[in-house]
Amino acid sequence: MILGIESSCDESAIALYHPLHGVVGEWVHSQIQQHSQYGGVVPDLAVRQHLENFFPMLDLFRSGSFSSCEISEIAVTCGPGLIGCLGVGLSIGKTLGELWRVPVYGVNHLRGHAFSPFMKLSSSDLNWDQLLPHLGLLVSGGNTLLFEMNRRKEIQVIGRTMDDAAGEALDKGAKLLGIPYPGGAELEKFAIQGDSTAFKFPRAFKSKEEKDFSFSGLKTSLLYQLQKMSSEEIQGRYCDLCASYQEAAVDQLSKKCRHFLSKKPYRSFGLSGGVANNQALRDRLQGVCSDQAVSFYKAEKKYTGDNAAMIAFAAFLDRDGLWSNENGQLSFNPSLMLDSLPIRSYGKE
Ligand code: AMP
Ligand code: MG
Repeated sequence: MILGIESSCDESAIALYHPLHGVVGEWVHSQIQQHSQYGGVVPDLAVRQHLENFFPMLDLFRSGSFSSCEISEIAVTCGPGLIGCLGVGLSIGKTLGELWRVPVYGVNHLRGHAFSPFMKLSSSDLNWDQLLPHLGLLVSGGNTLLFEMNRRKEIQVIGRTMDDAAGEALDKGAKLLGIPYPGGAELEKFAIQGDSTAFKFPRAFKSKEEKDFSFSGLKTSLLYQLQKMSSEEIQGRYCDLCASYQEAAVDQLSKKCRHFLSKKPYRSFGLSGGVANNQALRDRLQGVCSDQAVSFYKAEKKYTGDNAAMIAFAAFLDRDGLWSNENGQLSFNPSLMLDSLPIRSYGKE
């Protein structure tokens, strides 16, 4: 049984993953309420919240039906993330590892997201010959990455955002429309009732070959549009504004996926991260994959946000080959994170 620990941003989470039975227990505490009044995550507040919430959660886990379960490994998010927040999870993981005398592994948070679309597969369906090479889109509040996972499960980033992340763009647009942080999900509720062709918002790059994403122009364009309208006009066309804004983001994301899927014979395509909750994006990418006859794997909605189950799962998948034991030292290299998303171990093995 692997105990996963996640604390990179504003979710405190632990989970138990069993190699045969999958996720058998999970506990998540989200801090969204505490941060929403400030319009974004406040790092210091996030650290204090982790300190308050992890210990009751660990008590819950140790006192319930899992009190006697045998933990053989601990997997803890080691980055990227807010450094103070990561420190809480790493300290807990390290301490429990010493206490229980089990190995503790650092897992790259983005690697956790990248594998999350495969979590629903049973161990017998995790047939890597049928899944790899894989093209993945990770879209969250902090990241927008298009990446390739090769047959050795190594990840190479193809494109990333040059400015705002997709979720950040949706949240900033939502804010301009008066929706409190994080507004992506709420914006979607209005977008469903609107006409996505009513307003023309920019899609950033004209060239198909451009690998990176850009969303900051989209937000500025909405700002200019709103400045031209009276508050009555905005109210009257509110759902159309939401739908057109969301569509510009979904369109940019899905067009790039379509183009890069056609470049190589990928065996599967995966969608992960908080924005993967968006039904319009899920439907659009499903269509792209059907057109190109590629299997589409989307993270289950409960595993799109930050969670510890995906961290334990990533550690489980990487057990063959990618873990390196480097003399019990903390050995991950943050500078490698975005380009190759490696996983490194620390602690005893
Ligand atoms: P994460 O950074 O992975 O925790 O994901 C949070 C981001 O996902 C925020 O920017 C949210 O606005 C965004 N998000 C969550 N649900 C939705 C949704 N249904 N549609 C669009 N964006 C969403
Ligand atoms: Mg995340």
